Amino acid sequence: MNQKYVLITGASRGIGRACALAFARNHYHVFLNCRHSLDALHQVAKEILDEHGSCTLLPGNAGNPDDVRKMFAIIESICPGLDVLVNNAGITRDGLMPMLKDADWDAVLDANLKGAFHCMRAAYRPMMKQKYGKIINMASVVGVTGNAGQVNYAASKAGVIGMTKSMAKELANRGVTVNAIAPGFIRTAMTDVLSDDVKAEITRVIPMGIMGETEDVANLAAFLASDASRYITGQVIKVDGGMVM
Ligand code: NAP
Repeated sequence: MNQKYVLITGASRGIGRACALAFARNHYHVFLNCRHSLDALHQVAKEILDEHGSCTLLPGNAGNPDDVRKMFAIIESICPGLDVLVNNAGITRDGLMPMLKDADWDAVLDANLKGAFHCMRAAYRPMMKQKYGKIINMASVVGVTGNAGQVNYAASKAGVIGMTKSMAKELANRGVTVNAIAPGFIRTAMTDVLSDDVKAEITRVIPMGIMGETEDVANLAAFLASDASRYITGQVIKVDGGMVM
């Protein structure tokens, strides 16, 4: 069996961690990235190694082009090419529009939108040359519906969706598929910061009546990376318990 390789940005916790463990169990060599939480990233690597998987740590800021260039130089030194790229790194800096500082706008757009841009640009030519690749971008239902208090986050995720569809069109006849996952309300550190009242309010509008788990998202990522999804590209697939229909 040929070894397959995946890069997952933001793999130290939450959805990225669940994707890393799922891909490792599917026998991928996993390149694990995050920016700050290196102890947690080492812990994910340990979990993968304990299950006899293989991985490489690739710390760096996905929103910084120099960091991404260095990450891809290491990837190229280790493997013939990435099979799968999961652009998962993301942050929130919430606030109503008048309260949003320039720094809040820049930080969210840098991590969520530019991060995906830098990694896709680096993966583009190698995937095109090998005539194979699966790019999976973590968007959000908020990028489709908008959300009060999340102008910066919604703009970044709407941008990810536009970039996904454009890249899908550029690469469709090159054997490379590009899709976005739009999670709804998933139990992670990102949503743990919300008050119980806000969580109850959001859960009330989810037809299934519960928050999603990180594995719900990772399962879709694993499917989109598999040959079973070969005729699916340019799509935005929601994992949200029916929240947005
Ligand atoms: P999380 O638990 O806060 O994890 C975010 C991950 O991204 C961490 O590993 C973090 O590591 C990394 N990260 C942040 N900025 C980075 C950067 N500039 N470069 C590299 N890594 C970076 O978040 P999550 O809930 O799992 O969310 C994962 C993705 O799903 C995000 O794109 C998020 O917007 C999206 N999403 C989540 C939900 C939800 O309900 N949870 C809903 C819709 C969409 P460091 O701390 O080391 O930077």
